[in-house]
Amino acid sequence: MPAAAVAPDVLAKYEPVIGLEVHVQLLTATKIFCGCANRFGSDPNTNICPVCLGLPGALPVLNAKAVEFATLASLALNCQVRERSIFARKNYFYPDLPKGYQISQFDKPLAEHGWIGIPTADGATKKIGITRLHMEEDAGKSLHQGFADSATRTYLDLNRCGTPLIEIVSEPDIRTPDEAFEYLTRLKEILLYTGVSDCNMEEGSLRCDANVSVRPRGQGKFGTKAEVKNVNSFRFIREALAYEIERQIEVIESGAHVVQETRLYNSDEGRTYSMRSKEQAHDYRYFPEPDLPPLIVSPQLLFETRKRLPELPEARRKRMIGEYELTEKDAHTITASRVFADRFEAAAKTARNPRRVANVLLNEVVGRLKALGIEIEQSPVTMAGIVLAADLLDEGTISSKQLKQLFDVCFEKGEDFEAVYERERPRQITDSAAIEKMIDEVIAANPRQVEQYRAGKKTVAGFFVGQVMRASKGQANPALLNELVVKKLEG
Ligand SMILES: [Zn+2]
Repeated sequence: MPAAAVAPDVLAKYEPVIGLEVHVQLLTATKIFCGCANRFGSDPNTNICPVCLGLPGALPVLNAKAVEFATLASLALNCQVRERSIFARKNYFYPDLPKGYQISQFDKPLAEHGWIGIPTADGATKKIGITRLHMEEDAGKSLHQGFADSATRTYLDLNRCGTPLIEIVSEPDIRTPDEAFEYLTRLKEILLYTGVSDCNMEEGSLRCDANVSVRPRGQGKFGTKAEVKNVNSFRFIREALAYEIERQIEVIESGAHVVQETRLYNSDEGRTYSMRSKEQAHDYRYFPEPDLPPLIVSPQLLFETRKRLPELPEARRKRMIGEYELTEKDAHTITASRVFADRFEAAAKTARNPRRVANVLLNEVVGRLKALGIEIEQSPVTMAGIVLAADLLDEGTISSKQLKQLFDVCFEKGEDFEAVYERERPRQITDSAAIEKMIDEVIAANPRQVEQYRAGKKTVAGFFVGQVMRASKGQANPALLNELVVKKLEG
């Protein structure tokens, strides 16, 4: 059970301080220091060799693609890339680390001094600092479950040994669990846009540890922090932090001291548990890796990498809000993945009116997908179908009411728009005499609105268009109808 809620006035006396450490696996074909396949889901212990097993005499060779990806990520996160960085041995013993050390970077990491902008409640942007981004290798995996003798034995799968990682360490700039959630969401989005990782949390390609402490508001010195490890979704991290903040405040309010330790989050119970005390800090005995030369990222390589930086999510949203007249929320929907945003923009370019494509997508497709609980990739209506619908609407061949009816059919029958349109071809009244007759009737029935129009309130024309469209059961040609309504009212 979660801790008893701390009273709001007590909560308000304290300020949480949160820093995040995120490990991200890079999507290279091979591992960071050997030619073994970097692949998730292979049979255990099949993608291994003397180098990643750490057998005596085996020597690491740095994967250039991993450097390229790490550099690309550094630039996307506004970091300064060091021209000369140093790999270091981080010594510790663990069964899934056969070498007895991890090759990482220590005092000279690849990149430093970056930031990510997150939105604040009042619509401004808060910069969360990134202390460093360094390269390292992943360890293997201990399997504690799933075997007949799991109660007494642990199995090891060393396929993950040597998977290239970047570790991204934030400054302690985060003040609330919501800010932590935003930071992680933005970070993941940026990395996905750069294509350096699939950021799949279920498969462990993005992992997050959080450092959290509280201090009385106004106090400069940080409180004692706890580290929350192994949380496997951003939502759970937000929950774990909220729990941990209240727990620490309760400890302090009771007159005791927060202990520096590592804690695990149990999402079923919504609380954290002490895993191990960190009072004796680890001594990793870092020293420069003697088997690897310094990593040099030349100005030329940096220049080349910068050219490959895609338009990043925040910039893209800003541009698209202007270009397609989108709301902030709609821009988020369309840019949620780079692949989708690319597909949308490629399609919109071919349409008569790109803004109309955005409208149809957001008004007719997104809501229906949500109602069905499916992703855009599974939509029966393709982007080409959306463009066709937008064009038909734009040229006045179908009314928006007919469009809605056609989309209803598409989603009911799981068919693309073109097929449904060709079959149903909604009847259109394009006979101006017939439309004029309907307009006359509506005008005769609404003298007050006619007066308003003639007194200068031109927007009332929309009222008449709507009335006639309804009378025609949505079949009046919209362009013709608009034109004739104005003609009649002016006449
Ligand atoms: Zn290997």
